Amino acid sequence: MDIASSTIVITGGAQGLGRAMAEHFAEAGASLALIDMNQDTLNEAEQICAEKGAKKVQGYVANVTDEGAVEEVFTTIQNDFGGINVLINNAGILRDGLLIKCKDGEITQKMPLQQFQSVLDVNLTGSFLCGREAAAHMAKAGNGGVIINISSVARAGNMGQTNYAATKAGVVAMTVTWARELGRFGIRCGAIAPGFIETPMTAQMKPEAIERALSMVPLRRWGQPDEIAHSARYIIENDFFSGRVLEIDGGVRL
Ligand code: NAD
Repeated sequence: MDIASSTIVITGGAQGLGRAMAEHFAEAGASLALIDMNQDTLNEAEQICAEKGAKKVQGYVANVTDEGAVEEVFTTIQNDFGGINVLINNAGILRDGLLIKCKDGEITQKMPLQQFQSVLDVNLTGSFLCGREAAAHMAKAGNGGVIINISSVARAGNMGQTNYAATKAGVVAMTVTWARELGRFGIRCGAIAPGFIETPMTAQMKPEAIERALSMVPLRRWGQPDEIAHSARYIIENDFFSGRVLEIDGGVRL
């Protein structure tokens, strides 16, 4: 698929990886619809993408966990842009914690259901809702399309990430399912599993966690957001790519 003639929808497009992908595709002359909850960072992203050469760019404030809001925003984007060619399901959150804590034979803490559920709501249900709406608009238009789900190296399972790891494995399962179901409409679906990438999300990590993380990366450095944008570009441009995961992680193994 040609990027310059595409309308690309990016959830969580106002900062971090979503923003880096938006800027990358703006430079390639794409039309961009950015969905996020933060109006201020959305305004900033809109301005920068316009300066970098986006054919058209529009930010939309919406919470990807809200079914009604997601249906409405995709219909609005369809009307504003005249079609949707690519969706990047990137909005995601972390709420790390151990499943249980036990001291001297006493359970001192259990991961609250809300902590587990909140991550499922954004990372998994949000991707489901946006994928469903984008696929419906794409299938109706009959011009095919591409859906990219952002997974993580944590999909293999990671200490303190019961909730996050489950969602990132879940979006890979959805990727394969959608590739199988939607291929008949010419819709391809791929996933990217980034390793540790320098964004506001990873800036929340404690220094000892950063140290530990970097010691597992053979390349001994953080990945840069544009290295993820580059792999999204590969998936969009390669018309025979579907149902697979690109691991962009500097060789890390959790
Ligand atoms: P980030 O926190 O910097 O940005 C996430 C963006 O998503 C923010 O703009 C936020 O406002 C938006 N968002 C959050 N909840 C939302 C909701 N309910 N509805 C709409 N928008 C919402 O995070 P990031 O590091 O850029 O991560 C982006 C994606 O990449 C996430 O799915 C994350 O899990 C994944 N990922 C990141 C890394 C990394 O090292 N940074 C590694 C692997 C995977």
